[in-house]
Amino acid sequence: MQIISSIIFVILAVAGFGIFAVNARKIYRNIMLGQSVNRTDRPADRWKNVLLIAFGQKKMFARPVPALLHLAIYVAFMITQIELIEIFIDGIFGTHRIFKEPLGGFYTFMISLIEILSVGALTATIIFLYRRNLLKLPRLNMKEMLGWPKKDANLILIMEIILVLCIFTMNGTDEVLYNMGKSHFEGQGSFGFTVSQHLGPAVFGSLSEGTLHILERVGWWGHFMMVLAFLNYLYFSKHLHILLAFPNTYFANLNPEGQFDNLESVTNEVKLMMDPNADPFAAPAPDENSVPAKFGASDVMDLNRVQLLNAYTCTECGRCTSSCPANITGKKLSPRLIMMKTRDRLEEVGKNIDANKGTFVDDGKSLLNDYITPEELWACTTCNACVEECPVQISPLSIIMDMRRFLVMEQSAAPVELNNMMTNIENNAAPWPYNQMDRLNWKDEN
Ligand code: SF4
Ligand code: SF4
Repeated sequence: MQIISSIIFVILAVAGFGIFAVNARKIYRNIMLGQSVNRTDRPADRWKNVLLIAFGQKKMFARPVPALLHLAIYVAFMITQIELIEIFIDGIFGTHRIFKEPLGGFYTFMISLIEILSVGALTATIIFLYRRNLLKLPRLNMKEMLGWPKKDANLILIMEIILVLCIFTMNGTDEVLYNMGKSHFEGQGSFGFTVSQHLGPAVFGSLSEGTLHILERVGWWGHFMMVLAFLNYLYFSKHLHILLAFPNTYFANLNPEGQFDNLESVTNEVKLMMDPNADPFAAPAPDENSVPAKFGASDVMDLNRVQLLNAYTCTECGRCTSSCPANITGKKLSPRLIMMKTRDRLEEVGKNIDANKGTFVDDGKSLLNDYITPEELWACTTCNACVEECPVQISPLSIIMDMRRFLVMEQSAAPVELNNMMTNIENNAAPWPYNQMDRLNWKDEN
């Protein structure tokens, strides 16, 4: 019987991690569809950001209450993985609480810590469900969050609740069995785990030995299965951020927020144009490699790899949208939706590649127009509030700017006011429609 249990355990573990590995490879492949970008400079600053922003969740604390609740779930999640090591060893070798004897008091401390953190996580999860569904926090209930995004957020919270209930069922019933001297762990007494030593007898104390053994196994297998389910669900969920927040923070842009990345070939052209003494014929012919095949971005393959990583990392928290002046004043733009649509299009491109034996076949669609409209792009004030607010260092603005660059440089499709201004700069070296000689005429008006 034990050998069958171990075989089932190994098959489930291999299948669970195998499917996760296949999907993780797809995500990597999709991100690599983007343009390469060098984000390896200043490694010390990058590691500092990973420690403070990804591990320390520094930016979350701009709003302390949700930050503390999120921290409770996050720490519980991290620490619970230690117990998982024991579950794996027990599952494969048919042992029971393999670490209890060698670790002694430290084992009791570790499981007690996991139990206390699990109570914190359970409380936080219930508050998050309340906030999202009954309190209806505006940023979590905007139009873009209806349907799958809302279900996704609720589903993961429910999974967390089930996981915590499995832990307490497992520990609580085992505590009662150990009290009776019937646990699979030899001996009799109390395990002394902070929560389950009280909870176990109170909830399960009246049950028969047979029922207790069944419930103990339900908790144990439930814990294991929920971890596998959670791992594989990540691929379909905004909760990918629990893994991707770390590389995303490492590769974030370290330049000052207002600094845009100019195209070298264009900068040189402009300098030549603005310099009255420049001899255009003396200038070296542009290097083929320095001129991009396309200016700006109209589809996900034109964006860089960090922007695509951003799309997979977005937690859909809406902090960006709730601070976006364009959104607040009723414009069509939502920076969160920019990230969600970029990910949707990237997923569509990935499925196209899977269906066509590794090659993308033109589907007549693009990120621009089919997912993100020019109206959304031109509503942006480039204020950087979304970048500042994002807890995981995502920049919706950089995608907006690249797509605007495409509209202007490839399609001359800027709003008429902008086109007029740019024509004036080209002709008059100023945004106004006056000859340079007439610039000061305004002072004669009274
Ligand atoms: S930069 Fe654009 S998208 Fe971001 S907050 Fe400002 S207006 Fe909104
Ligand atoms: S871009 Fe950042 S702030 Fe905006 S929804 Fe995604 S994670 Fe939240």
